[in-house]
Amino acid sequence: MRRWNGWGDDRVVTQLEGDALDFLRLQVGTATPTQDATLEAALAQIPPSRLPGHALVGTDALERLRASFGQSLGDWLRLRFGRIGAVSDGVAWPDSSMQVRELLDWARAVGAVVIPCGGATSVVGHLSPPPSGRPVLTLMLTRMRRLLQLDPVAQLARFEAGVAGPDLEAQLRAQGWMLGHYPQSFEYATLGGWVVTRSSGQQSARYGRIEALFAGGRLETPRGTLEIASVPASAAGPDLREWVLGSEGRLGVLTEATVRISRLPEREDFVAVFLPSWAEGEAAVRALAQARLGLSMMRLANATETLTTLRLAGHARAIAWLERYLALRGCADGKVMLLLGFTGGRAQVRAMKALAGAILKRHHGVSTGTLLGAKWKAHRFKGVYLRNALWTAGYAVDTMETAVDWPRVPAMMRAMEQAGREALAALGERCHAYTHLSHVYAQGSSVYSTFVFRVGPDFGTAWARWTALKAAVSEAVVHLGGTISHQHGVGKDHARYLAAEKGAAGIAALRALATHFDVTGVLASGNLLEEPPA
Ligand SMILES: Cc1cc2nc3c(=O)[nH]c(=O)nc-3n(C[C@H](O)[C@H](O)[C@H](O)COP(=O)(O)OP(=O)(O)OC[C@H]3O[C@@H](n4cnc5c(N)ncnc54)[C@H](O)[C@@H]3O)c2cc1C
Repeated sequence: MRRWNGWGDDRVVTQLEGDALDFLRLQVGTATPTQDATLEAALAQIPPSRLPGHALVGTDALERLRASFGQSLGDWLRLRFGRIGAVSDGVAWPDSSMQVRELLDWARAVGAVVIPCGGATSVVGHLSPPPSGRPVLTLMLTRMRRLLQLDPVAQLARFEAGVAGPDLEAQLRAQGWMLGHYPQSFEYATLGGWVVTRSSGQQSARYGRIEALFAGGRLETPRGTLEIASVPASAAGPDLREWVLGSEGRLGVLTEATVRISRLPEREDFVAVFLPSWAEGEAAVRALAQARLGLSMMRLANATETLTTLRLAGHARAIAWLERYLALRGCADGKVMLLLGFTGGRAQVRAMKALAGAILKRHHGVSTGTLLGAKWKAHRFKGVYLRNALWTAGYAVDTMETAVDWPRVPAMMRAMEQAGREALAALGERCHAYTHLSHVYAQGSSVYSTFVFRVGPDFGTAWARWTALKAAVSEAVVHLGGTISHQHGVGKDHARYLAAEKGAAGIAALRALATHFDVTGVLASGNLLEEPPA
């Protein structure tokens, strides 16, 4: 069963390995685990539904609770401390575009706000009811999971948009195909959620971000159905797919999506390479991206993230041996870890390795072969379970991410980490901040920082720590000209920062677009574009 107040399947229990706890104590201090609210206490706070009856709408308290939270740290704090607050008034599980249409029409008639929900893995507050005071209906789309059509000649597959990552890949693999979209939330996130939040997968360097994979689809809007035909390329005016990408449930409900699929690769290797310093690592990864070799993944951890990864990995003796070996090869304190993905035909992988090897040699890279890479691959979707273990030990973890051009990458990394540390220092707390470049491009890179700090003894303290950190890092991102999100989207948590990026004219155009499809504000969830309070 999926956890109601944390990440993932409750049968998967992750522990902090080895001296991980000592390491965290050293970084941010000894933490006292908090007493989590029970499910019964949380359910007792669910108010009566404000929605009238409808055959497709359920008002079960547990369903309404689950439908109202994603995975942002704010969501976690409210659930773990039992500060439930506003929840959805009803939940429907449509199984067709027709039912979605029916529910949109009904919601308009009864004055409800509709929030579409995919895998509920949002980390930016998408699923919380807006402050408008109107009743809220959540459309859970995960029953819409069928592969509708597969065209092996054009390499296209049309799916119902509520299909989750593993299910989508299994349906394609049964016929020898794959999509290759692997966000870390792959276990639960859905195709529709990926499209409307402009998601990026771990191997998007090969397969493309969702923008490149999404070829067309069907959007049910309060104004009617918008069908976007799929063509390989077009010069026929603005691309309507771009309206849907990043629309975050404000224009309509994506019920079907056509995606560009690939044949399964002949070979795939993940290789860990260490470099002596951040400067060498950044120069190497930039050179790799700009050489356009076609690697499927390039992920560079800074020195603090490299150290943290090695300390939290457990296996202290093997890691000590590895570090002695790396030191002998010139990668001692300050070393950085670069994880590379080589995917393709056998000859193509061999050629990519040779070309990448030459670039890495110029930057004093030390390859450790596929051992660490294979371990990473085996646990690529399990690492997120560490959030549960950290919480149990009394530590909170949040992440913030952006993208900037190469000249601004180091300053952005420093500014984000420093903003997080200073925000918590102002509250008398320490923050362990570290960063990696998760997606690198010829032009620049995403910058993805993680912040670990003590939860605190009560909700008020924990909430103050989180909101101070979130605001300070968001402001640092905007101040340095970064996008407010490279991959997580805007939601409610980032909505106030969007104008800094889009400008007043851009925000006005987005509002006009939303109003065009949704005159009466059925989809006025407060995501992307802030809604005024009631
Ligand atoms: C541990 C963890 C790791 C993550 N790693 C990544 C990562 O590597 N890359 C990345 O890009 N993101 C990542 N995310 C963020 C998140 O998984 C993505 O934003 C994902 O795309 C959300 O998909 P979902 O189906 O869960 O959407 P939900 O969380 O259910 O919804 C998100 C938003 O999309 C809307 N929506 C969902 N489905 C539809 C639909 N069919 N039609 C219209 N609107 C819809 C909702 O109304 C909401 O506004 C991560 C999240 C977590 C918790």
